[in-house]
Amino acid sequence: MKDGLDPPADSGRETGTGRHVAVIGGGASGVLMGLHLLRQPGDLRVTLIEGQGPMGLGIAYATTDPEHLLNTRVHNMSAFHDDPHHFHRWLEQRADGAKVSDQGFVSRATYGAYLGALLAENDDNPRLHRLFQAVVGLQETDTGVNVQLADGQSLDVDRAVLATGHATPDKARQWPIVGAWQPHVASDPQGLIILIGSGLSMVDQVLSILKSGHEGPILSFSRRGLLPRNHTNTAPLKVQAAELPLGASVASLLRWARSLARLAEASGGTWRDAVDGIRPHVRTIWRALPQVERARFLRHAATWWDVHRHRIPPQSQIVLDQAVLDGQLTIRKATFQEARTRPDGLVDAVIRPFRRSQTEVLTALRIVDCRGIRRDPETHASPLVAGLLSAGTARIDPLRIGLEVDDHGRLIRADSTITPAIYAIGPASRAAFWEITAIPDIREQVARLAATLATQPAFHRATTLK
Ligand SMILES: Cc1cc2nc3c(=O)[nH]c(=O)nc-3n(C[C@H](O)[C@H](O)[C@H](O)COP(=O)(O)OP(=O)(O)OC[C@H]3O[C@@H](n4cnc5c(N)ncnc54)[C@H](O)[C@@H]3O)c2cc1C
Repeated sequence: MKDGLDPPADSGRETGTGRHVAVIGGGASGVLMGLHLLRQPGDLRVTLIEGQGPMGLGIAYATTDPEHLLNTRVHNMSAFHDDPHHFHRWLEQRADGAKVSDQGFVSRATYGAYLGALLAENDDNPRLHRLFQAVVGLQETDTGVNVQLADGQSLDVDRAVLATGHATPDKARQWPIVGAWQPHVASDPQGLIILIGSGLSMVDQVLSILKSGHEGPILSFSRRGLLPRNHTNTAPLKVQAAELPLGASVASLLRWARSLARLAEASGGTWRDAVDGIRPHVRTIWRALPQVERARFLRHAATWWDVHRHRIPPQSQIVLDQAVLDGQLTIRKATFQEARTRPDGLVDAVIRPFRRSQTEVLTALRIVDCRGIRRDPETHASPLVAGLLSAGTARIDPLRIGLEVDDHGRLIRADSTITPAIYAIGPASRAAFWEITAIPDIREQVARLAATLATQPAFHRATTLK
């Protein structure tokens, strides 16, 4: 494999004698996990397994639209938290020689190419094996895990790491709604396009639709009609661990966050300094939050947090604002009820406007689902995850965010014991850590896990969940 992006024939299965880790999923989390494992001293072997696309892309970085920018500045996107300028150096060394500020925002496709290139640097590394097929089952064994592949073969490894990402809706079941990550072309440049949701995926869609020359109206709606805020320069507040209101109610947490925002503003900054100061502590705060408060957060505060935390680059904001000013883009508060196909090929969207009991029917060229990544993990489970759930090797957390894992990321079985050899990382571990979807969080998680896996003593039988 030359550039790490094109799937080659399966690249070898078994060599060497060292501890062997299978990483399932070759999106950003899986590739980062693989790279961090390969940085560990010793002869630990890694088999990285991807079932669909080229490695390093996954949902976020598979886009080829150059308008789809990272919502994180270059200096925060290094693959290695102990080498924060790594991504910037890689950008500067590229053949096109274009100057990029480490405070800037590059395209998500560029980031996918970066991860692919880092993987390609290991083309001749005998410790790395890449497989391009789906994992359909994981079976715990006395010595580790048996990984079952779609072609009927299997491999025995010491540890398996699930990097299977977000639960995505089945395209066929979604019809006539189109997924935000599915390519689609509007048949009539004057027709209405409806976007369900008003978050980051909606922003991507609007940018692509406008770039395609579409002149017709675009309607985005969501329950609260909140839009992601934009980036400006920030100087994150230094929030000490001792100051965290651990275990407090969501109402107290919001009061605390607002008081930090006022503090930042009083010293000439903005609320962003408070949000960015809190961000490194979100996992700790989430872990300490009682279940009932977590549920309250999801109901009342998660959207509010998301629009402040996941911000858009200024250049995207300018395009969005102009589209609103021109009257082409409208944002409404409404909930989506259903979509119906029509004989003329158009689609009807049934929506219920905010605080109204009557529904409204809007006829559109297309309805795009931009509701982001929060899906019911069981309804949208892949065959692998469905199998783990039905075997009792995994269970869904009480709030139905995702697979339940312990502090170390090990799966928790249906009977509350811990699987000693199967871990989950990135969004696949979201139920336990909440904020584990962005690269700065994932790279720290995988660095810690890589060190653990490389130094772990011999295999242990299951331990009981305390
Ligand atoms: C649209 C979007 C934009 C984002 N922008 C940013 C950003 O600017 N900055 C930032 O820091 N973060 C960003 N993020 C967040 C973050 O980077 C992603 O959440 C991250 O890419 C998660 O990667 P993942 O590998 O865990 O999951 P995914 O991207 O979902 O990849 C999972 C991979 O696993 C494979 N897989 C699944 N099941 C199996 C199986 N059974 N066998 C084999 N393979 C399997 C899939 O084919 C897929 O390739 C963005 C996220 C999204 C969705």
